[in-house]
Amino acid sequence: MKSRLAATGVLVLAAWALPYGLGGYTVHVVNIALIYALLAIGMGLAMGVSGQINLAQVAFFGVGAYAVAILTTHYGHGFWFSALLAVLATVVVGLFVGVPALRMQSHYLGIVTLGLALGFINWITNADITGGADGISGIPVPALPGVDLSSEYLYYYLEALVFGLALLFGLFVVHTSLGRRLRAMRDDALAAGAMGAEIPFLRMTAFLLASLYGGLAGVLYAGLIRYVAPETFSIANMFILLAMVIIGGRRSLVGCVVGAIGLTMVREWLSDFSTYAQLGYGVVVVLMVVFAPTGLAGVPARLRTLYERRRRAQQSSRAELRPFIPYEVEDRSARDGVLLSVEGVTQQFRGLRALDEVTLTVRKGEIRGVVGPNGSGKTTLFNVISGFYRATAGTVGFAGSDTTTARPYTLSLAGLARTFQNLRLFGQLTVRENVLVALDRTRTHTIWQYALWQPGVLTRERRLRAQADDILRRYGLADFAEADPSSLPYGIQRRIEIARAMAARPRLLLLDEPAAGLNGGEVQQLIRIVRSIRDSGTTVILIEHNMGLVMSLCEKVTVLSSGRVIAEGTPQEVVSAPEVIEAYLGDSDLAELDLDTPPSAARPDRAKEATP
Ligand code: ADP
Ligand code: MG
Repeated sequence: MKSRLAATGVLVLAAWALPYGLGGYTVHVVNIALIYALLAIGMGLAMGVSGQINLAQVAFFGVGAYAVAILTTHYGHGFWFSALLAVLATVVVGLFVGVPALRMQSHYLGIVTLGLALGFINWITNADITGGADGISGIPVPALPGVDLSSEYLYYYLEALVFGLALLFGLFVVHTSLGRRLRAMRDDALAAGAMGAEIPFLRMTAFLLASLYGGLAGVLYAGLIRYVAPETFSIANMFILLAMVIIGGRRSLVGCVVGAIGLTMVREWLSDFSTYAQLGYGVVVVLMVVFAPTGLAGVPARLRTLYERRRRAQQSSRAELRPFIPYEVEDRSARDGVLLSVEGVTQQFRGLRALDEVTLTVRKGEIRGVVGPNGSGKTTLFNVISGFYRATAGTVGFAGSDTTTARPYTLSLAGLARTFQNLRLFGQLTVRENVLVALDRTRTHTIWQYALWQPGVLTRERRLRAQADDILRRYGLADFAEADPSSLPYGIQRRIEIARAMAARPRLLLLDEPAAGLNGGEVQQLIRIVRSIRDSGTTVILIEHNMGLVMSLCEKVTVLSSGRVIAEGTPQEVVSAPEVIEAYLGDSDLAELDLDTPPSAARPDRAKEATP
């Protein structure tokens, strides 16, 4: 902390002293570099942090600059008032450009945003109000009492101040609740939705942030150059900007800044060879994408990972999964009534009927088992209940309301949590951050605090971190809080998924094959964990192949086969039901019904005897 403060102090001093040794032209280049750095931070927030490919940043830049130009020269407004309106206008445009992100992602989104940027460039080149190809000149000098901002030396200080605050704000966003959700969305939007992250709003927020920085950069540019023309906002410049972000490292705002300042300087040195320079940037970008996909900013982290992997190999015995600490037992009288009711649900995938009129009622306080051969529709049932799929027919009711068409994040906020058959942890987040995403129950609209009440964000952050550490301790994961989940053994990752789901304090927990891949000891611990979760007042539905586990945990089991419920009852009842035996034998899937843990009724030989 102290060293960080000292480093910041040194940086501020250096920024203060910088113009003293420099000539007028160099200061101009520095001023341009800072504007590109602001643009790059906006790109980094949308692309690197939130995973929303945004190739319209140059248009946001243009909207900010042109709005100032038009408002000051055509309408005679003052610079600062125009600047405020210009940033607002850019954000409105940014939200509009972000709308396609609600429907499409990755390169499709890139193409659409690029198309919108092209449309903007076309418009400024041809419209009367924008002065066509000639652009708009005569933008007034921003007025500041006692400071002559027509001097580029003094303008530098204005820019440096805005840039410093903007960078701080960006870092603040990335390292707190909002940024964590944006990063979770980037890593796995489905899992983030299931943890309560309101994906559509977050996607729009990514564009809001990008356009905010674009608008600021445009305003500063208009005040600096006092002339705007289409070539500044060209697609060629969009690609330079993209190169800055990729070379610097899109996931790190500091990396984006380094890339922007570095490439602006390089571009200046190479200005006599601009054709070759363009080619050069292209080559460097390709090399970066191939050899250092996380950019320059990622290099130290990669080196550290290499080093740590070696060290961890030596240390691995020291970090360990500690025993689970049971929850406090909740009063049983609170358990009454139906929590989940699935009625006549059918799920059709083109020709395949994955669920066929499934009806199932789960009461509060139950541990319900769902078993069935592979492909019988168990995971699909979870996907329907948790809002990932919308049932073709039938209804789902959860906690007293009809949730047939509810979105995953709505269901999560209403108290439903789940794990995934094929682990879906957020790969680029630490274990603690994975838990924090689920722990954070605030709605996206509370991001107004980021603009108006930052202490509120920090207080909440501190409280959440303390809670996250409690949860990690309870699940015996404290040693791994800072670890990157993919570096951990499978059994530990499964445990993290349960801890993450429980961090949302759900009323209903869906576990999709939680014992898959666990060893015997780990299965025993899992049994303790699930019992304690139920005793704490959370109802559990569990899909499982391991019949021993089902037998010892569940009071009631529902058996699916080819999308239909073929039996329901106590574990002993269902394993001896003829339909069940036939379903398993017919599928030559009996081996999967792992029956080697007692009771005797579940023995495969008995099952065979009973078959006609
Ligand atoms: P289980 O979890 O019981 O092994 P699933 O619910 O995963 O089975 O799958 C049931 C059937 O539905 C399978 O035949 C599977 O291929 C099919 N299925 C599942 N999800 C989809 C999907 N999104 N699109 C098409 N078919 C699917
Ligand atoms: Mg499955």
